[in-house]
Amino acid sequence: MRSLTPSQSSSPRPFHYLEAGAALRCGKVSLELLARRYGTPLYVYSADQIAERLGLFQAALAGRDALVCYAVKANSALAILKLLAGRGAGFDIVSGGELERVLAAAPEAAGRVVYSGVGKTAAEIDLALTAGILEFNVESEAELELLEARAKKLKRVARFALRVNPDVFADTHPYISTGLREHKFGIDIRRAPALYRKASESRWLEAHGVSVHIGSQIRSAEPFGAAMERVARLVRQLARDGIALKAVDAGGGLGIDYHAGKFDPAAKVAEYAAALETALAGFEGRLLIEPGRFLVAQAGALVARVLQVKQNGKKTFVITDAAMNDLIRPALYQAHHEIVPVKRRAGRPRVVDVVGPVCETGDFFAKDRKLAPVEPGDLVALLDAGAYGMAQSSNYNTRLRPAEVLVEGGKARLIRRRETMADLLGPEIF
Ligand SMILES: *Cc1c(COP(=O)(O)O)cnc(C)c1O
Repeated sequence: MRSLTPSQSSSPRPFHYLEAGAALRCGKVSLELLARRYGTPLYVYSADQIAERLGLFQAALAGRDALVCYAVKANSALAILKLLAGRGAGFDIVSGGELERVLAAAPEAAGRVVYSGVGKTAAEIDLALTAGILEFNVESEAELELLEARAKKLKRVARFALRVNPDVFADTHPYISTGLREHKFGIDIRRAPALYRKASESRWLEAHGVSVHIGSQIRSAEPFGAAMERVARLVRQLARDGIALKAVDAGGGLGIDYHAGKFDPAAKVAEYAAALETALAGFEGRLLIEPGRFLVAQAGALVARVLQVKQNGKKTFVITDAAMNDLIRPALYQAHHEIVPVKRRAGRPRVVDVVGPVCETGDFFAKDRKLAPVEPGDLVALLDAGAYGMAQSSNYNTRLRPAEVLVEGGKARLIRRRETMADLLGPEIF
């Protein structure tokens, strides 16, 4: 089988060309067939790859009591939540809405939910207390007070972790770096002991753990290890003060390679797990991790149809029926996504901009990119679109959001139908 990265035995992506003239496939299913059946733009995900990635983390942490809490915000499709819950995953949520999704898809997983986020409302906290989630990751002193008040009101003890800010620099895009003191996230790690002591006086608060999350799309294991070392030091200090934490939550943020080169996900996960374990040596409690992107990004592609190929001066624009409202990462973070034709044509690659029809100059998927030849009517696949793709989509320009398909084994099934104008206009009053 010819993969997109033929030099590797285990390809980081589930999309392959079986032979020269054949269409790109997800597993055994042709993307051309899926585009014909469900239309475009279309998100296609490989269930097998998502399960495989979850298994990599579970295996790497098998030496201790560990729980992989999938960060729901990366891709909150109910079918994907259900798939992960069925394989033992927990969930990291950042809103009451995400909790509702977990409860809808996998109510049995409520006790495996950790709740992060800098601004939780009383109603959201009540929902989570009632559902009996595993842990609230508390991001401020005021939030701890609110949590105590709601717990007292509902007569339910709230298990919490302080999300501490380890003041570790992670080399990533500034919009998704979160671990420095100047960021809005977390509590200064130096303030944490005093807060744990204060909380220990309340019968409605149980100091369950400590959490960190230093950012997203972090490619090196080093900053994760550095953050964990600071957390481990805090855990030891608290233990000396008589506060024995049961769990450490290392957050998410492990990055992938969006480019076409070699990338070995199993080696990456092993390196990441080793960095955490080294820092946590001597800690006997539970380890939680919150990967989002690493589990789902490479399992997904956004399939789009080329509407036009247009020449403006020296530039060539490939205009697709997908746009920034469907996949905003290039516009928002200058993110790179590999773009490949679903069916390859003979001919030389051309340097083009790949753009959508939205009325914004920022509506592009690639700039000055060497792209295999494409003609109007052809299909292209934007790779590594499984995370923060559909999850960040919008209806900007009154565009209907794409349908989503999950490929499991040799079978594809629709997991979200394409939106209709009725879906869009329904809530409006005029
Ligand atoms: C976004 C987020 C994650 C997941 O980040 P990824 O980069 O997708 O792994 C995990 N934990 C928290 C608290 C987050 O905000």
